Amino acid sequence: ILRVSVAPLLAAGILPAILVTLRDISQVEEAEQQRRDFVANVSHEMRSPLTVLAGFIETLKGPAKGDLAATETFLDIMEREAQRMTRLVSDLLSLSRVESEERVRPRTQVSLSEVLRATLAALRPQVEDAGLSVDFQDLPDAPTIPGDRDQLVQVFHNLIENALKYGASGDKIEISLNRVESLPGLPGPVLKVCIRDFGDGIDAIHLPRLTERFYRVDGHRSRAMGGTGLGLAICKHIVNRHRGRLSIRSTRGEGSTFVVSLPIS
Ligand code: ADP
Repeated sequence: ILRVSVAPLLAAGILPAILVTLRDISQVEEAEQQRRDFVANVSHEMRSPLTVLAGFIETLKGPAKGDLAATETFLDIMEREAQRMTRLVSDLLSLSRVESEERVRPRTQVSLSEVLRATLAALRPQVEDAGLSVDFQDLPDAPTIPGDRDQLVQVFHNLIENALKYGASGDKIEISLNRVESLPGLPGPVLKVCIRDFGDGIDAIHLPRLTERFYRVDGHRSRAMGGTGLGLAICKHIVNRHRGRLSIRSTRGEGSTFVVSLPIS
């Protein structure tokens, strides 16, 4: 094409030269596809509680009108669905905030011991409901790290809550804080937090995709337990912002360990 249309113009000196730019748009297309998938997922996740709500409103206005017992049952279900939508919207807002802040390095100094203790205190009711014991191995005199305290609380809240939800068939969860002098790919010493449960575990095939938005091993189970499928995606962005690493080890039938490593400086 170039030879036919441009070569005579070049030869006649009408065009002094041409510049050809080749751009690989496969990454752009991939990002566009991911954006389309995300919108489709959000729409799908929103539509199911809305369908339930609309159905029950219809029933309450029609066949169940005046039936007090049915009204009470239906209102409970409607309340749960409304709470599900609230959680979804709140997780979507969190995700968009952490994505937009990912390049801004956190500057305040944070104690991970304090973050873990505060998170465990806030999760006490869920720990009691799950009937599991929590074994927390703290690191006395652990150094502080540069971090965003609220975001780090969010990471450990999500991971410990998941251990309680998906590890319920075990009898305990173990949390430990350690210092490691060097880890491949991370600069300098790190603080390493391990959250281990003894529940059902996860098949290896799922592990690489677990931190994708809306990826679930068992969508029905996750939704029944109030999950949005966004928790680990949020964790991954926050850990990236801290220049750290989130790794997951799991064996089906034995349980899972989520490891967060964060640089000390
Ligand atoms: P959800 O809101 O569904 O819990 P997450 O992003 O937190 O979403 O987790 C994604 C999926 O990873 C979950 O739906 C579940 O299938 C799996 N998962 C997360 N943590 C664990 C765990 N400790 N044990 C087993 N499976 C887990």
